[in-house]
Amino acid sequence: MPGPDVLREAERQLTVCNACRYCEGYCAVFPAMELRRAFGTGDIVYLANLCHDCRACYYACMYAPPHEFAVNIPQVLSDVRRQSYEQYTWPAALSRLFASIPLAAAVAAGAVAAVAGLALLLAGPGRLFAVHEGPGAFYRVIPYAAMLVPGLAAACYVVAVWGAGAARFWRETGDAMRAPVTPWGVLRALWDALALRYLRGGGPGCPYPRERPSHARGVLHGLVFYGFLSALASTTLAAVYQDLLGRLPPYPLTSAPVVLGGVGGLAMIAGTAGLIVAKGGSDRAPAGAGAAGADYAFLVTIGLAALTGMLTLALRATQAMGAMLTIHLGVVAALFVTAPYGKFVHAVYRLLALLRSRLEQEASLREDR
Ligand code: SF4
Ligand code: SF4
Repeated sequence: MPGPDVLREAERQLTVCNACRYCEGYCAVFPAMELRRAFGTGDIVYLANLCHDCRACYYACMYAPPHEFAVNIPQVLSDVRRQSYEQYTWPAALSRLFASIPLAAAVAAGAVAAVAGLALLLAGPGRLFAVHEGPGAFYRVIPYAAMLVPGLAAACYVVAVWGAGAARFWRETGDAMRAPVTPWGVLRALWDALALRYLRGGGPGCPYPRERPSHARGVLHGLVFYGFLSALASTTLAAVYQDLLGRLPPYPLTSAPVVLGGVGGLAMIAGTAGLIVAKGGSDRAPAGAGAAGADYAFLVTIGLAALTGMLTLALRATQAMGAMLTIHLGVVAALFVTAPYGKFVHAVYRLLALLRSRLEQEASLREDR
């Protein structure tokens, strides 16, 4: 649970905002806040995960520091959000990875080293650095079963930890309207998430990395998000080609899995690089304590996964393919291992917060009629 100090501070600032209400057009946080008279722990955690850290309310606020009210909503909600990630993950001992970037880096490096060790064990230096061509070329470096079994086990683990966290988040966050889950509410929340609706800062874009609004953050976030979905579609399609159609990789450059993977990979590289540069030049005043480290760790890992994937594609007909494939699989393993204990979890809680927001809005409209 977020610490009492940060909860008290969030409650104080939200109470000021609830009286002021100047920022209600910027995002979903303020309309959700206005449905509440008081802010319990669950309400605050919910509102924190609804916040997209666009910072529009900070730059618009007449009560921001140095005013004595010292309202800094993006900062305090970022602090709550980070602590809520630690609260909802499992096992609790591993929640330290959120706060310790060196520890997270060591775990990620361990995953890369484990995959490299496995490749050396299974293929040996001879096959690892040889040219492999034709159907099944990748599996002559690392056999299919050695990729599939650990990959599936890691994916199941991630889904289980995320699922347990999601169930706790849903149970413990406040619902001001006691709103039932409706199919329309679910569809609208999914659309809000897919369209990255609240990364538009209420219309003119987010005032990020500095005070001037721009759509840069929304575009860069979109490149990472849609690039990831495209890469996911590529992997799924490759599984269909292989397991249903009996066609082993590597596939031609013009095939759907390669086109989707290539487009997704390039988008993720551009998006993560742009977000890293933007974060480096961003205003630290509205930033939460310790948030930047987790953001950088996530961006670097996902960017490296995309970069090594693209290099594997580019070098697949050369002697370097085996080593590149091994590094790529190691980085992907690191992404999986750290997924429940890093910034990746924001996707789960933000989606649930968007769903609660939509359901509350529907219930509020029904009540007004
Ligand atoms: S952030 Fe400032 S201006 Fe915006 S609603 Fe809160 S107190 Fe008012
Ligand atoms: S930082 Fe942006 S998303 Fe977060 S509460 Fe302020 S306006 Fe809303």
